[in-house]
This record gives sequence, structure tokens and C-alpha cells, in this order.
Amino acid sequence: PARSTAQSTAGSAALFERAHAVTPGGVNSPVRAFNAVGGTPRFIESARGAYLTDVDGNEYVDLVCSWGPMLLGHAHRDVLAAVAEAAARGTSYGTPTRPEVELAEEIVARTPVDKVRFVSSGTEATMSAIRLARGFTGRELVVKFAGCYHGHVDSLLASAGSGLATFAVPGTPGVPAASTAATLVLPYNDVEAVRAAFAEHGDDIACVITEAAPGNMGVVPPAPGFNAFLAETCAAHGALFVSDEVMTGFRVTRSGQWGLDGAVEGWRPDLVTLGKVMGGGFPAAAFGGRADVMAMLSPEGPVYQAGTLSGNPVATTAGLATLRLATDDVYAHIDKASLLLQEAASASLREAGVPHLVQSTGNMFSVFFVEEDVTSVPNFEVAGTQRVDRFRAFFHAMLEQGVYLPPSAFESWFLSAAHDDRALDKIISALPAAARAAAAV
Ligand code: PMP
Repeated sequence: PARSTAQSTAGSAALFERAHAVTPGGVNSPVRAFNAVGGTPRFIESARGAYLTDVDGNEYVDLVCSWGPMLLGHAHRDVLAAVAEAAARGTSYGTPTRPEVELAEEIVARTPVDKVRFVSSGTEATMSAIRLARGFTGRELVVKFAGCYHGHVDSLLASAGSGLATFAVPGTPGVPAASTAATLVLPYNDVEAVRAAFAEHGDDIACVITEAAPGNMGVVPPAPGFNAFLAETCAAHGALFVSDEVMTGFRVTRSGQWGLDGAVEGWRPDLVTLGKVMGGGFPAAAFGGRADVMAMLSPEGPVYQAGTLSGNPVATTAGLATLRLATDDVYAHIDKASLLLQEAASASLREAGVPHLVQSTGNMFSVFFVEEDVTSVPNFEVAGTQRVDRFRAFFHAMLEQGVYLPPSAFESWFLSAAHDDRALDKIISALPAAARAAAAV
């Protein structure tokens, strides 16, 4: 029988009400408001290892991991020690520092980039990469894929009619039509759409930007060879291939998605954007790539880009400590835990008779609550056929049993090195009741 632990959420509810009075929607990033699932967003007081504790004292196994960054788990002792030491030396100087150099060296060693520039968020990374691609090529058009999220960059907040290559219209008020008029939105995993776009506009395309493996429409892995095809097509037309690894970088392998395809197949993206794990839970992100392209960046070249807190010594120290601890053993552990959970989630849903599909790239995975006739989710259009009502029931049943899933059906589940047998057992034993709740919808 479904357990009801009768969580109190009074403290979270009170804070949410206070937050509403002073912050739009009560949150500083929309998905945190539980809009997609309803209910009271949990205000978290502290976190350790695989667990979150909210202001009412409820404990949850965390499957969000700060939307990716917490690869080692929360409050890792060695990361905290490095951060405390760095902070005691002062928190920001507005000068170059040692940890920036060391983190850049670590990133260059792990990824296919020759040079890297630090920024403070993934949004800044993709915004800057696109400016650089336009500056380098002297072209303006940007190709993106429907369902790929690259942060809230004006030109990338674009939706498009499904199936056809269209010049995008802004996906939100406040973005000038001119910003997205130079953005072409194509269906993901669609080779023919990419060919057609390049046949028509090839001489005007500055870059193709794609999530290295999309995680923001739920996990939709690139079809075998799709990223290689994008890299080749860009090269053939003098455009740059920008691989957005903000989510996948240093998470699905020690480099990122590139470790699963490019490194094996022998190609490199021209530019890569990074964030999340490389900041160790602090605001740090980066873009990097080919030396000749990066040489266009100020002060070496004419393309302007800057940031007061870019390369911040505390943030880069946290990132460096995290990456140094992110050994092959860490990835092996998370990969194994991920497979176990994927199988357990699928088994519970099957048992309860809930149609679904589990998709993954490396250790990132999503459970799609799609109908029986859907045998794969290759793009945003198909992802959108999900039964979000079933997800909602599933989500709340997990939450009530102390498991914190991403509060949207269109997200990846994230694990960490701290997800040990006890944490995994807690998740696995919560799954059957949640699957039954989804079945009852
Ligand atoms: N790119 C990708 C692939 C992302 O997943 C995200 C954030 N989820 C971003 C860019 C934007 O990063 P940030 O939220 O740090 O601006």
C-alpha cells in the first residue's frame, strides 16, 4: 500500500508566501515554482551527500543535484575545504588569479577545446559563443533545434512551427523580433532539415548550436552520427559547430557528451559551452574552442566580451576541486547507479501498466510518460506528446515518499557519486507506489 508520511510543508508554504510578496512568482528561476506539477515548492535548508533537507525538516533523496552541478554530491568535504580556504583569502579581486589558470588547464586537458574563457552562467557562455561565431565568420544566421535550451539568450529564446525550417518568432515577450529573425529553428535529429537549411542559407549561417545531447526536452540522445554530421556540414559551409555541453560537460563522461561521440569518431566541435559541474555549485561557466576562433576574443581580438566576476577565485576553486575529484571511479559509479534506476523505474511502471519510455545519454536519463505507440522520442514534437498528468501524479508520490525528482516531465534525472546503496534503495522502494499513482490518473 502507498505510504503516506504526512509531511508538513508549513515552513515552505510560509516562505513561498513571503517570497511572492517580494519576488515574481516567489522564485528566482521559473521551474522552481512547481508550476508544472503544482503543490508547494520545498524551500531547502541544507544538503549533504545525496540528500536535501527542507525547512520543515523533511529529508529527500535528491535526483536534481542542482540541475546537474553536484556531481560529487552536496557539501563534499574536500570541495568545502578548498572553498573555505579560497574565501578566507578574499572573495573577488577583479584581477587574474591562479585558480583560473589551473581550472582552464584542467578543462583544456579534458575537453576538445584549445582555449577557454570563463563567464558566470551558461546563458553568458552561449550568448558569448554566438557573438564570437558571428564575429569570426562575419555572418549572422544561427541554426538551433526546437526543444534545445541554451539559457535565456534573446536570439535563442525562439520557438518554431514543427517539422519545417522557419525563421523563428520570439518565444517570450520582451525579445525583439529582429533578435530571433536571424535564428533558424529545425527539428532535432533531422538530417534532411539541416541539409535543406544549408542548401538555402549555407553562405549566411554563422553557426549551428545544439545541446551536445539534449536534456532540456527530457533526454533525447543524438541519433548515431548526428553530431558528426553537424560538424561536417558546418565545416563544408564555413560555419562553426557550437556544442552546448553546459549540462552534459564533465557529467556524462570526464569530458562530456564529446567523450561518447566525438572522441570516439574523431571529430571536434569548433566551440563548446560549459557550466554546471565545472563550477562545483558556484556560478561559473565557460566557452572555449579552436585557438584561431578564440583568438578573435578581446583583448586578443576585436570581439568584445567581459565580466566583473568572470573566473571568480572562489567559484573557480570550487570547480577545480570538483574536477580533480571527478575521477573515472566517480563516473563508473554514477553510470552504474543510473542503469540500476532506469531499470527499476521501468520495471515499476511496466508492473503498474503505465506506458513509458526511458531514454538516456551516459548517466543522464529521463522517463517519458508517452503512450504505448511511441517507441522513441527523437525530438521536441514527440516529447510533447507526454502524459504530463501521469508525470504529475508520479512526481508527487515520489516526493511524499522522500524522493525529490525534477519538477517537470521534460528534464533529466541527475545522480551523484554520493548516491550510495541506501539512497538508491530509498528511491527504488518508492517507485512502485509512484507508478501505481501514475496508473490511477
Ligand atoms: N545550456 C544548457 C544545455 C543548459 O542546460 C542550461 C541550463 N539548464 C543553459 C545552457 C543555461 O545555463 P544557466 O542556467 O547557467 O544560464
